[in-house]
Amino acid sequence: MPFFSTRGSDAVTASQAILRGIAPDGGLYVPGEFPQMTLDEIAALQQMSYRERAVSILSRYLDDFTSEEITASVAGAYADGKFDDPAVAPVKKLDDNTFVLELFHGPTMAFKDMALQLLPYLTGLSAKKNGEEREVSILVATSGDTGKAALEGFGDVPGTSCTVFYPLDGVSPVQQLQMTTTAGKNTHVIAVHGNFDDAQTGVKKLFASGEFADAMNSRGKVLSSANSINFGRLVPQVVYYFSAYADLLAAGAITLGDKVSFVVPTGNFGDILAGYYAMQMGLPVAKLICASNRNKVLTDFFATGEYSVQREFYKTDSPSMDILVSSNLERLLYEVSGRDAECVRTWMEELKTQGCYDIGAENLYTLLQTFAAGTADDEETRAEIKRCLTENGYLMDPHTAVASKVLRDYRAENEDDTVTVVLSTANPYKFAMPVLAAVAGDEALQGLDAFAASDVLERTAGVPVPAQVKALPTLPVLHTAQCDKEDMGKAVLAAFDNK
Ligand SMILES: *Cc1c(COP(=O)(O)O)cnc(C)c1O
Repeated sequence: MPFFSTRGSDAVTASQAILRGIAPDGGLYVPGEFPQMTLDEIAALQQMSYRERAVSILSRYLDDFTSEEITASVAGAYADGKFDDPAVAPVKKLDDNTFVLELFHGPTMAFKDMALQLLPYLTGLSAKKNGEEREVSILVATSGDTGKAALEGFGDVPGTSCTVFYPLDGVSPVQQLQMTTTAGKNTHVIAVHGNFDDAQTGVKKLFASGEFADAMNSRGKVLSSANSINFGRLVPQVVYYFSAYADLLAAGAITLGDKVSFVVPTGNFGDILAGYYAMQMGLPVAKLICASNRNKVLTDFFATGEYSVQREFYKTDSPSMDILVSSNLERLLYEVSGRDAECVRTWMEELKTQGCYDIGAENLYTLLQTFAAGTADDEETRAEIKRCLTENGYLMDPHTAVASKVLRDYRAENEDDTVTVVLSTANPYKFAMPVLAAVAGDEALQGLDAFAASDVLERTAGVPVPAQVKALPTLPVLHTAQCDKEDMGKAVLAAFDNK
């Protein structure tokens, strides 16, 4: 199957799309068509393990990979012992029509592992298939979770290296320590003086810079991306939408063909876009509900059709969603415009030059047949965490709680009681401070750091602290580099030259 750029440049194969990450024209790679899953094929997923489900979905897109290659990659990525739940992505019941899809059972306790455990395998194979002999150097901007997940995925993988930029004051203490304590001879972690958008913009500039590519090439390296714009990040995420549906079928919560809704805590729009892809493949979906924190650029977009980054940026309790430029939205715009690359180019140019674009009433109407959107601020999010613990006996992290609250509001407004899956994107102990504050009040935080807060939370909520969190404070900090947002290129080269 050919892969096209959302901005119109020449078609490539799946492995080329994965290797390049971003198209030369700045666009994102999209599949030439959506492979179809029949209801019978969906029903058959019930008897399969998560790994088998993944092979079934991935092979339909990655047609220049052999089935042995895909099977081996999936076996490595989702091996027993890497995920602390044998189901990999288990579905838990909150009430008769509300379920939680837990995507945080991987090594870094956030949903990024679902894709980033697999991506290094796909990247290595893609390099081989395309005769690439240089080191594949992954460059990542992270709002917190991607960075560690990429470092875990690529750490010590031969033929690759992984350099991560994170906003100095934009990640949780646990997230920061997770990254700065990373071992691995091929890993670099650099703090940027700025917010996530500064880091992401800086990385995009490096990918677009011929001069930087030359500097890397002269060191025997070629750049590649592990950010969620890479198709190799997107496609593993399609799997868990099907997997959740199969689990609901098996549990008797729905019957085959019933439509299910998903509410997704959204930042870069990768996770929810995977749900849209699943729907295009034939998964019976009622609504995809896009949940934002106080940085509600997407809520406003779905309300008005105008995407505008001309607004204040807020730091919230759900930092992985503190994003103004949701890169993966470009793939949705491509579909809604009828795959009109010219149109997408114009909107993206307007975003760059004017800070906003408007898709018009007709396109917005089309989107709203599938999407709904809502926002929850920190106060509402904390109240939701407490409510879910009290009423459902379920402890959720702030990102998940944003989604849960947005679902509650959506149901109240729309009298829609469709069976809905809340995508849970992080273990609550990754964000122990706000979660403890939510459960026991601000005063409970007095004098505590994130790790002491975890212990108190364990006693208060009765949910055990994961072993990874317990070990973190004892690990040595190995990465201390910082740079200004203008100097990210220099910082990467210095990191290579010094290691
Ligand atoms: C990355 C992340 C999100 C947002 O996912 P997108 O694909 O960027 O929309 C939500 N929650 C957590 C915990 C994350 O790490």
